[in-house]
Amino acid sequence: MSADRMKRQHPAAAAARTAAFGLLLDVDGPIASPESRTIAIPSIIHDLLRLAHAGVPVAFVTGRSDAFMRDQVVAPLVAGGLDDDIALFGVFEKGGVWAPITAAGLGEIALDPAVALPADARAEVERIARESFSPAMFVDEGKRVMVSIEQRVGTSAALYREAQGRFEDAAFRALAARGLGIRYGDRVVLDAEGAAPYRIDPTIISTDIESVRLDKDHGAARAIDWFAERGVTAPRWYSVGDSRSDYKMADHVHAAGLEAVHVDVRPRDGLLARDYEVAVRGDLVHDAAGADFLRERVAALGG
Ligand SMILES: [Mg+2]
Repeated sequence: MSADRMKRQHPAAAAARTAAFGLLLDVDGPIASPESRTIAIPSIIHDLLRLAHAGVPVAFVTGRSDAFMRDQVVAPLVAGGLDDDIALFGVFEKGGVWAPITAAGLGEIALDPAVALPADARAEVERIARESFSPAMFVDEGKRVMVSIEQRVGTSAALYREAQGRFEDAAFRALAARGLGIRYGDRVVLDAEGAAPYRIDPTIISTDIESVRLDKDHGAARAIDWFAERGVTAPRWYSVGDSRSDYKMADHVHAAGLEAVHVDVRPRDGLLARDYEVAVRGDLVHDAAGADFLRERVAALGG
């Protein structure tokens, strides 16, 4: 504890600083267990605190809501004792919502109204899910700009998949009937301006209905820009994720002319070929791989 204590009493200057590296972390998979959907490995919190207190900029870039992050990630970090002089940031709902993470908890929430699903469209698809598909799925009440309908715990994968397909078809038809431009698989309906600004995006445990502009590359850009505006930069950014869309974080880093390393913690689907380094953690997957990666980054601090 004494080394940590000294760092807290002599924090790096709050003014401009360049860290050796920064982190862009997907949450579900590398940080939160895909089974319990909580942080199940204690070293993850401990190592995140060590990294943050060493001045490493750390951003969580997730499709989850700020409410989920507050409860499952920020609360245990605050309970572990966060310094004031840290560079921690959260990007939620795939880039549509964001907030700093401070010693006192999640800071002021900001959102981009240009990527929000219109309120009446949101109300209608959420009503369809509640009224007709409630045994298999539930509405994520914490979402602000997108709609997420999730598999109910205890519903079998087969039952969910069948209900999910019917829900998505009903949602697509309802939104198209409203004149909303929307994409769903191969199906596209254009709005009055000839555009399709929204999409229905199925995952194995949820359906997201969202702006086509929401994605992990925008989330990564939001985080790196936010740090830069506060004078915190890094020449190299590690991104960590369990989905193919998580590579988009490193795609942004690479396109911005910075050194990118992407750590794939669920390489079962096959690694994607990229012009930057793509890494795995041996045979480890999910949060075990995420914990192992964070431990390596703490060791790299040299303390
Ligand atoms: Mg994930």
